[in-house]
Amino acid sequence: MQGLMMDTPLLISSLIRHADRYHGDTEIVSRLVEGGGIHRYSYREAHNRARKLANALTALGVKMNDRVATLAWNGFRHFEAYYAAAGMGAVSHTINPRLFPEQIIYIANHAEDRYVFVDLTFVPLVEAIADKCPLVKGWIFMTDKAHMPPTKLANVLCYEELIDAHSDDFDWPEFDERTASSLCYTSGTTGNPKGVLYSHRSTIIHCYASSMPDALNISARDVILPVVPMFHVNAWGLPYCAAMVGAKLVFPGAGLDGASVFELFEKEKVTVSAGVPTVWLGLLAFMKQNNKRFSALKRTVIGGSACPPAMIRSFEKDYGVQVIHAWGMTEMSPLGTVNTFKAKHNDWDAERRLGLQNNQGRAIFGVDMKIVDDAGKDLPWDGKAFGDLLVRGPWICKEYYRAEGGNPLRKDEHGRGWFPTGDVCNIDADGYMQITDRSKDVIKSGGEWISSIDLENTAVAHPAVAEAAVVGIRHPKWDERPLLVVVKKKDAQVTREELLKFFEGKVAKWWMPDDVVFVDQLPHTATGKLLKTKLREDFKDYKLPTDTSP
Ligand code: ADP
Repeated sequence: MQGLMMDTPLLISSLIRHADRYHGDTEIVSRLVEGGGIHRYSYREAHNRARKLANALTALGVKMNDRVATLAWNGFRHFEAYYAAAGMGAVSHTINPRLFPEQIIYIANHAEDRYVFVDLTFVPLVEAIADKCPLVKGWIFMTDKAHMPPTKLANVLCYEELIDAHSDDFDWPEFDERTASSLCYTSGTTGNPKGVLYSHRSTIIHCYASSMPDALNISARDVILPVVPMFHVNAWGLPYCAAMVGAKLVFPGAGLDGASVFELFEKEKVTVSAGVPTVWLGLLAFMKQNNKRFSALKRTVIGGSACPPAMIRSFEKDYGVQVIHAWGMTEMSPLGTVNTFKAKHNDWDAERRLGLQNNQGRAIFGVDMKIVDDAGKDLPWDGKAFGDLLVRGPWICKEYYRAEGGNPLRKDEHGRGWFPTGDVCNIDADGYMQITDRSKDVIKSGGEWISSIDLENTAVAHPAVAEAAVVGIRHPKWDERPLLVVVKKKDAQVTREELLKFFEGKVAKWWMPDDVVFVDQLPHTATGKLLKTKLREDFKDYKLPTDTSP
């Protein structure tokens, strides 16, 4: 017998319609890419303009399932493009502009993008790649007529002119909720980037789950500033969640330096933010140098790579801001686990609570996870046994776009597919998960594993260390041994010996890095994570002092 409840499809258009109806005057504030001034309007106006844009795209011939791409910062026009494209049944494809031009060309061709929205910053980029993207019918510059730059490109449109020519009379169509809504390529450390194709259904369910109190904890009383870019897994879903709950949104545009972000935090009374650890390094350094305090910020979501305990401590102790440590991946829309307390932790003292916050947290409802050994056998949840992390759930990818890379899933004994995350972790009896490494970064020393994340976290707790990376270096006796690569804080001094001494008593003896190298900067991926492949390449011929081979 089937239930007798309405089968209304879960569609992204319903989010913006809801925000207009119930939060029509709630603001969306953006730092403009043209000139850096502030643009301010409401969900109601955003909805009107998204409908104009949907009419404009229809007039340009964009149809159901066509891919419409963006090369853009976080801003109100990018927000409108998200809703117009998905709402009309097309696919909003966010391209990461920080990728190499060849990767962008590959991605735009692979996705068969029809139109591309372009922030002015990226005009030189598209001028350089346009003739290698023959399927793109037009480049829509996200600005008004007055700011249109001279360009040698032929098929260019002006965003404001485009929507001005159309009415906001557009009825969002109803269709199957499993229809594709947005597309995001993972950087793919090996091989070509692969597309993760989200559906309306997966997006809405992810949105419900990630807004909950034990997840990102957002509501109509919040002012959200996503520092995480809208081209990095849809800014972790925040442009959707904000509309669902009716939170005020603040978009930082291209101004991602500490001073610019801090100014917006204060002026707009931002209560919640989100970003990868590297962006907070800049902000915290700015705060410290200028002796600043936050007046409204309550929480910040940090994920994308392990948040160093020293950063959690500094946010909480120095600035009174709660860190919500979260883990996820592009293939998971992205949210998988979030670190929040249980009632039984209420009477723990501050230090013990800080200790618990260092792991990646518990699965949010909707995500099922397990850890397995090399043979695929389930491992116990005892906080010690570690193995490959597998996940399943309604917002987790089952196959990449155009079946790239074949079937990624691993079958269990019931024939159910699990997505292998590529992360190595342990899970404790309360369900808190701790990532020890990405499987390709773990250091294999004498048949045992050393966690590069643990060593990096220990290093950045040293007051003179700004950023640290640990990679495995080939060793004749142990296979691999850890090398610590360090960027010192501005004007700070520390020697190799002092740093190694700092590790004593904090990590097992055999985990001690065999050597320390100081560098001016570390390589990062297009989403701001440490680029270990590049580091391993840079240091592939490095000879450790413990390597006594000729
Ligand atoms: P990519 O880095 O390949 O572009 P993602 O942005 O989807 O793709 O990254 C997902 C990966 O980032 C995870 O599999 C995990 O290794 C890492 N990651 C994300 N959040 C955390 C976290 N809180 N702690 C440690 N690692 C994390």
